[in-house]
Amino acid sequence: MKNFDPKYNELPKTEIHCHLEGAIRTQTIIDIAREYNLKLPAYVPDELDRHVKVHDQLRDLEAVLEAFGIFQNSITSPLVFERMAWELFEDCARQNIKLFEVRFSPDWAFHGHDLDWDACLEGLLRAQEQAEKKFDMAIGIIAITSRGMGAESCVKTVDWAIRHRSHIQAVDLADGELLYPMSDFVKPILKARDAGLKVTIHSGEDTPASAVWDTIHAFQPDRIGHGIHSIEDMKVVDLIRERDITLEVNPWSNYLTNSVRTIEEHPLKKLFDLGVKVTINSDDPEVLETNVNNEYRIAQEILGMSMEEIATCNRYAFEASFINAASKQRIWDQYFI
Ligand SMILES: [Zn+2]
Repeated sequence: MKNFDPKYNELPKTEIHCHLEGAIRTQTIIDIAREYNLKLPAYVPDELDRHVKVHDQLRDLEAVLEAFGIFQNSITSPLVFERMAWELFEDCARQNIKLFEVRFSPDWAFHGHDLDWDACLEGLLRAQEQAEKKFDMAIGIIAITSRGMGAESCVKTVDWAIRHRSHIQAVDLADGELLYPMSDFVKPILKARDAGLKVTIHSGEDTPASAVWDTIHAFQPDRIGHGIHSIEDMKVVDLIRERDITLEVNPWSNYLTNSVRTIEEHPLKKLFDLGVKVTINSDDPEVLETNVNNEYRIAQEILGMSMEEIATCNRYAFEASFINAASKQRIWDQYFI
């Protein structure tokens, strides 16, 4: 459940792992469907929620595919994309997130209606500029290349991100680590790195520690999305510490996707205690019906982390954030110290 308990809400927060495509409000999906004559399984929020939100541990992959299909079909124009981004930034401000990185997969998000990527980015940049001003926050942008979209899509996405590197700070390789071999993606991701973009890779979410080991050696990433299964092999934990890699952890998401069996077993605190730089994030806040406040609640009430330890996770996120140094430092000095 989304949480607005003042205990967590009033803390200034960071978030460095959030997918825009998983953060679209139900009401917005309905508004857009009406405006663009799109077919939906329901047109009232409570009913549509049954098709676009996941509350139980995922046993039915079909349900998730249906939700993301609806999201993809809702991204009908650059203006709509701008609205979705703006609303996400508003939702961040409501829970006092001051440093925020948003990520999206252009080839996946803009594929459904064959949108112009540059025009969509311009919309996102307008939303970013307004939100930074209105909410006094710093926002970074990460371009995702989805493994499921294939190697050619990866090349296209990386080239696009490089072309826009004054606005896009990093690339992320996401989705289906089990299904797609990494070899197809190494060359383009290293090209992004050579061009000055930062690199984060979804790894060790529903895959074993060995996947994280291979990811680190193949891509030399700055950060890893999830990485929770590294806990199963101390050699991998050591490697993460040696290379000073920050993990973007999403506890509730990991539970719902069955990447951990129970939420009590989540290794966030264990990794923290081992000296791994873990950060606390929401992943897909609308689909998973969570927010960063809720993730902090889980970290504290269920996993036993203290507020000081959570504050340390915030510092790790600040240090590892891809947002340019001057902007993030200003926000840090003003709100976090
Ligand atoms: Zn993710």
